[in-house]
Amino acid sequence: MTTPTIVIVGGGAGGLALATRLGRTLGKRKRAEIVLLDRDTTHVWKPLLHELATGVLNSSMDEVDYRGHSSAHFYRYQRGSLTGINREERRLQLAPIQDEHGLEVLPARELSYDYLVMALGSISNDFGTPGVAEHCHFIDSPQQAKAFQRDMINTFLRYTDPTLRQHTQLTIGIVGGGATGVELAAELFDASRMLNAYGVTSLDHQTISVHLLEAAPRLLPGLAERISQTVKTELESMGVTVHTNTAIKEAQAHQLVTNDGEVIETDINVWAAGIKAPPFLAELGLTTNTKNQINVATTLQSVDDERIFALGDCASCPMGESGTVPPRAQAAHQQATLLAKNLANHLAGKPLADFRYRDHGSLVSLARYDAVGNLMRSSASKGLFLEGWLARQAYASLYRMHQLSIHGAPKTGLSWLVDKLNRYLKPRMKLH
Ligand SMILES: Cc1cc2nc3c(=O)[nH]c(=O)nc-3n(C[C@H](O)[C@H](O)[C@H](O)COP(=O)(O)OP(=O)(O)OC[C@H]3O[C@@H](n4cnc5c(N)ncnc54)[C@H](O)[C@@H]3O)c2cc1C
Repeated sequence: MTTPTIVIVGGGAGGLALATRLGRTLGKRKRAEIVLLDRDTTHVWKPLLHELATGVLNSSMDEVDYRGHSSAHFYRYQRGSLTGINREERRLQLAPIQDEHGLEVLPARELSYDYLVMALGSISNDFGTPGVAEHCHFIDSPQQAKAFQRDMINTFLRYTDPTLRQHTQLTIGIVGGGATGVELAAELFDASRMLNAYGVTSLDHQTISVHLLEAAPRLLPGLAERISQTVKTELESMGVTVHTNTAIKEAQAHQLVTNDGEVIETDINVWAAGIKAPPFLAELGLTTNTKNQINVATTLQSVDDERIFALGDCASCPMGESGTVPPRAQAAHQQATLLAKNLANHLAGKPLADFRYRDHGSLVSLARYDAVGNLMRSSASKGLFLEGWLARQAYASLYRMHQLSIHGAPKTGLSWLVDKLNRYLKPRMKLH
């Protein structure tokens, strides 16, 4: 009997945890060949991207090299960007990979699979709003986060010279008052404080203005009202101008135009209002919803093909009467855990288990010193409300849990120690 090949497309929060688990079980015992396909060469946990964007996180410390990781965990890594699927022949079509000068590094190729797991995440949803694609930053990938960081540092520096300034205040407009927008707004104030400490003394809270714009009546509309209220109060005390009930109808190079016609002059625009799965998913012949997410059953199998599974942000998995599992790292992680069991069951001819999302609560980081949220949520209780240092520690532990799932306990412990040491050895912020 030939060894079946399980291809996982996307080594993010869910895909990398799944590849690690399957590698350590099926891969190590040679019961299946596990292949992880990703367009990038390294993994950065997506909830860290707002820290990467402001330079508070230096990605070289926290990125995982797929090639090195795969050899230690009994799976095979393939670099490639998925563009299409031939379901009859069970083959994936991969786009050529080019370097930054446009030179081809890898040609267009095909890759065979027996089982396929789609775990390629999501991108920001601009809802077709004019000017957004051209004039707003997105924080969906490490490359985009680094591009924002470069623009931010250059704009900050430009403000140190009165002849290069656009306005008297440096203004950053963030569209979307969900977790990404809120966390980025807080990090920006922290970053400006640190730059000030590193000698860019012309920047202070008077020269920086951050506008956070949310179309819903409150920030963090998906979370409990008490969290929204506390976050709003905290952000406003830092100096962020919060606009609720404010939708953006157009973005221009240095402006955001609201539905009421108000024009907000800006130096940098960021778009973080909602997500959608990559558009090509809607053209694969699989059933998708209006956000291009693949419709899956509770076993995480596509409703069209029992050998194709999907998890995380690119999947639409039923939850309760009429809802779907939210696009969260904890959901992707829980789905990876179930899928590791379901794939082993499928190979062994056993029935598959159903996915049940357990919402362990939500924490929102407000830069280095603070966080707000609730833990131990269930359908019967709102959970334990946390704020301040304790919430900050709980927030940090989410990343440690992700590290635990992909590195194991000894390496996660060492990485914690290295982070502590680096607080003394390195600047707190990446300054280039
Ligand atoms: C700034 C920010 C903060 C967040 N904070 C939180 C939080 O505090 N808590 C929480 O629960 N969630 C948070 N989230 C959401 C969370 O990051 C996502 O829900 C989670 O990462 C989804 O996991 P995933 O495995 O589905 O996709 P991802 O983690 O996004 O991984 C997708 C992978 O697919 C790869 N890929 C994409 N397209 C292709 C292709 N065509 N071919 C090959 N590879 C491809 C990508 O390179 C990437 O490695 C946050 C998100 C952001 C942006």
